Amino acid sequence: MDALQRDPRVLAAIRETIAAARRSRAGPPPNWASEVAERYRRASDPSLRPVLNATGVVLHTNLGRAPLARQAVDAMVAVAAGYSSLEFDLPSGSRGRRSEHARAILRRLTGAEDALVVNNAAGALVLALDALGQGGEIAVSRGELIEIGGSFRIPDILARSGARLHEIGTTNRTHLDDYARALRHGVRALLIVHRSNFAQRGFVATPEPRAIAELARAAGVPCIHDLGSGLLADLSPAGLTGEPRIPDAVAAGADIVIFSGDKLLGGPQAGCMVGASAAIGRCRESPFARAVRADKLTLAALGATLRLYEGGADALREIPVLAMLLAAPAELELRARELAGCCPRSLRTELVPGSSAVGGGAFPDAQLPTTLVALSHETLGAEALALRLRTGDPAMVARVGGGRVLLDPRTLALEDFPAAAAALAAAAEPGDLPQ
Ligand SMILES: *Cc1c(COP(=O)(O)O)cnc(C)c1O
Repeated sequence: MDALQRDPRVLAAIRETIAAARRSRAGPPPNWASEVAERYRRASDPSLRPVLNATGVVLHTNLGRAPLARQAVDAMVAVAAGYSSLEFDLPSGSRGRRSEHARAILRRLTGAEDALVVNNAAGALVLALDALGQGGEIAVSRGELIEIGGSFRIPDILARSGARLHEIGTTNRTHLDDYARALRHGVRALLIVHRSNFAQRGFVATPEPRAIAELARAAGVPCIHDLGSGLLADLSPAGLTGEPRIPDAVAAGADIVIFSGDKLLGGPQAGCMVGASAAIGRCRESPFARAVRADKLTLAALGATLRLYEGGADALREIPVLAMLLAAPAELELRARELAGCCPRSLRTELVPGSSAVGGGAFPDAQLPTTLVALSHETLGAEALALRLRTGDPAMVARVGGGRVLLDPRTLALEDFPAAAAALAAAAEPGDLPQ
């Protein structure tokens, strides 16, 4: 009785076991105690836990997007357990601003006059639309009324910001003149949204952001550019071209450029806003800024990630997202061979050519060549094997294709291989097979 009162998980496990027995057609469990103990154990395990990503999708939103560089993790740990100079100016001993921490480095890296970091890019967009739209109308091309995923839709976000949507152009073609007409109509801001996760081909037209920004400036109206995935590095060695880089978007003259911290930048979840002092200042002063502010762990990790970019070549090696995207096909083949060597003998392995994806709403068309390890098991089907990998410890998420489980070594670091070997051995173990 004591244990029941002290630990609510015990009672919950008993109740769940009884409820499951009532639902089950097979009747009550053969062993009540072990059933309760198993549920108790599951309730005690954290549901948020590390996962081995063998999918080859580098920025997998459901798997937490960007793995952090070691330096970023160290920086988080350094401020996590104790106090920090989060909002404190040490030389003067007076109150400081948390947004100062990433400001100088973001200015240097992007060429912008000012910078602000908030919780995520969606929050940054709402903040910018609210602060600059001031309840008036904001012009957006009909070709950019997009859905990013997870119920993030530009028209809905705009409605929530208090601004009103002023649609211009058509789905496939929007001209500079459409923006000019919107300005004559009296919109409060122009919004450009990067088509992150899809590509348009055929009879299409979109003015250059530079031309739109110039038009806005001439009318004295701010221009907001939602870039989505913020790219700072040069990924053309991996054949990845066409995604706008942040400094170019800033140089094109938008008053605010918005990008995520945990997409191509390879840092923690964050919404970075860079641009003109007047526009960023309005966002900083908005009451809504407080509701979307970034926490100290984010600021520590983002700062450390950005400092790697200032080291030039270091970023490409040290930031996992960049290293994974730039991994050479020959290196991936070697890793695939090694990964196949980690598999227990009960798994048949074959190396097959395949492709990895960037993910995270960037380079939607890109297919990065890789070597996959295709797995098959004598008695377990591919779906059953994939299920056992996902629910094992450590958990591993893989693709299934052509009746086999496919492991892509691009998203597994060499340090992950011992854990991967353990996951594969546990999943392929005979006995205890799900029916
Ligand atoms: C991903 C994305 C967002 C949302 O970014 P989060 O950091 O996930 O909030 C907003 N706009 C565009 C264009 C995006 O690609």
